[in-house]
Amino acid sequence: MATVLVVEDDEYVRSAIIQELSRRRHAVRSAGRALDALREITQNPPDAVILDLGLPDLDGSEALKMVRSVSTVPVIVATARDDETEIVRMLEAGADDYLVKPFSGDHLNARLDAVLRRSRAAGGPSVLRAGALTVDLNRREATLEGTPLTLTRREFDLLAYLTARADRVVSRRELLTEVWQQSYGDDQTIDVHLSWLRRKLGESASAPRYLHTVRGVGVMLITPS
Ligand code: CA
Repeated sequence: MATVLVVEDDEYVRSAIIQELSRRRHAVRSAGRALDALREITQNPPDAVILDLGLPDLDGSEALKMVRSVSTVPVIVATARDDETEIVRMLEAGADDYLVKPFSGDHLNARLDAVLRRSRAAGGPSVLRAGALTVDLNRREATLEGTPLTLTRREFDLLAYLTARADRVVSRRELLTEVWQQSYGDDQTIDVHLSWLRRKLGESASAPRYLHTVRGVGVMLITPS
């Protein structure tokens, strides 16, 4: 059983899908427009999304790109066109699978079960967020305002650790133990990495935006308001 968001503007198709998924005891929510779906995905993350590519407000690939910019939720695109180029384009844009309309309930459920299995195997939510900063733990990618950051392994670990604990002070000792996995060491190591990280985030110790030093205690990643 999963929570599935069905994004489909055709009422007849939408109710058929909802009926089919409800019959399999999934909790189903629905949206008729891409922007409503995006709001739903960010406010109330589902376990999977069935995304119709022909929506009234946004082109299918645009809708998919926007979903991908805010979430790693498994997405199955539903397309009316059995067009290989189009399908490949969607998979490259971040779709997990596709269905060509009209599809049967069994086909839908088989595809859905497969993507749910894969995402559960990958384990829980894996994207951390603080303001315009996202840290994807599975892909080991961080972005700021949508722009990928080029980080070393240690910088990534440090950023991920602080983002997961946003808005609370993390002591140097904790960073040393948890990020460097050392029981002792000198503060300079941490300071040097913090200063590199700040530079990549486009900020500095004297004008911090995300990474704030708490004198004598440690560091705090603050979500800018
Ligand atoms: Ca449609």
